[in-house]
Amino acid sequence: MVTLFEKLKELQDIIHERFNLERELEELPRNLSKKAEILSRFKKTLAETKIKLEELKKQRQSLYYELQDCSLRKENLEKQMDNVKTQKEYETLDKEIKDSAEKEQNLRRELNNIDREIDLNKEEEKKAESFIETIQEEYEEERQKMAALEKDMTGRIGELQNLEAQITPGLDSDMVFKFKRIIRSKQGIGIVAIRNGVCTGCHMILPMQFVNDVRKNERVMFCPYCSRVLYFESDQHEHRFEPLVTEAGGLADVLEEE
Ligand SMILES: [Zn+2]
Repeated sequence: MVTLFEKLKELQDIIHERFNLERELEELPRNLSKKAEILSRFKKTLAETKIKLEELKKQRQSLYYELQDCSLRKENLEKQMDNVKTQKEYETLDKEIKDSAEKEQNLRRELNNIDREIDLNKEEEKKAESFIETIQEEYEEERQKMAALEKDMTGRIGELQNLEAQITPGLDSDMVFKFKRIIRSKQGIGIVAIRNGVCTGCHMILPMQFVNDVRKNERVMFCPYCSRVLYFESDQHEHRFEPLVTEAGGLADVLEEE
């Protein structure tokens, strides 16, 4: 029975480590997916900026052509001035030239505005591109680190499974199944000692008869309160206090309770 408890303790450590690794492994990709999310958000912004830039460039082009037409028209009107014969003709032409000049000026102003907007968007584009590059590098670095970690962890899990397979033969499979569930639900502690009639797992006082049954070491017994496997552990204390019992009977009971 002693070797069985030792086996269970060993099994407990193996299973607890494996459960922890499996949990960590599950949580591993979370950080990475956060970074991927940021990355895709910035890529979307960049794509939008690029579309806007294309539109602005098209607008600029048509404004530019309009300006050229306008300048040409103004030049022609100015040339016509040389051939003007009447005051009426002069006034009409002069007004047309002034209108053209005003239109030309407005177009130049619009062109300037659009150039400024293009510059701003180009800056945005550059910023987004460099940010994406940085995040992409970080993401890649993290992905590789994570892949290596995952490989290590998976390897260790395999080792632990092998160790488990070396221990479990000969053990009752239902008991092992129950034991594993207890380890999972009780933060890795599936087997505990009874000391002074108390379960050291849940600190509940156990019935005397039950403690005696555990002490007999005939079969694996589970704590009726916390379900952990129990083993008896006060033999060494009894040995230590044995001389006191002979010297002053009953004192051992007092000491044992400490
Ligand atoms: Zn208990």
